[in-house]
Amino acid sequence: MYGVVVCPKCQRPLGVRLGSKTTSCQCGKRIYINRMKVLFSTDEPRELPLALGRIRAQLSGSLREFEEALEEEARPKAPDARGPQGRLHSKDKKERALEVLRSLSEAGGGFELSTAEEALEQSGLKGSAILEALLRENLVYESKRGLYRVV
Ligand SMILES: [Zn+2]
Repeated sequence: MYGVVVCPKCQRPLGVRLGSKTTSCQCGKRIYINRMKVLFSTDEPRELPLALGRIRAQLSGSLREFEEALEEEARPKAPDARGPQGRLHSKDKKERALEVLRSLSEAGGGFELSTAEEALEQSGLKGSAILEALLRENLVYESKRGLYRVV
């Protein structure tokens, strides 16, 4: 059996073999395993890292964050949503795209969608996908026939 105990000196959770008598914490404290409260036990050593992470998060009061992070990891990855960071990223992209389009419309009083798509691709953005999203959100609209502008 394996288990998790918390070092009484530094409060660090430790993965231990429950059959052994003692172990040493990274802080140097010698720990008598049979005197410790076992917070988690398992026959599977590979379950230990996860339990350690959970208990560490619990102790530091960030269990919710930890579980959310795990959920993110477990969730099947959509091409354009890669967790919180991915979302942050796509917001940046939107801002960048709007900048590109604003300068386009300043230059010519509006832009054609194909021109816009090209300009976006040149800035390393997915032109058509971003345009579609911006049109859907009404951030880009058709001002004259075939000529678009940024709101
Ligand atoms: Zn310690």
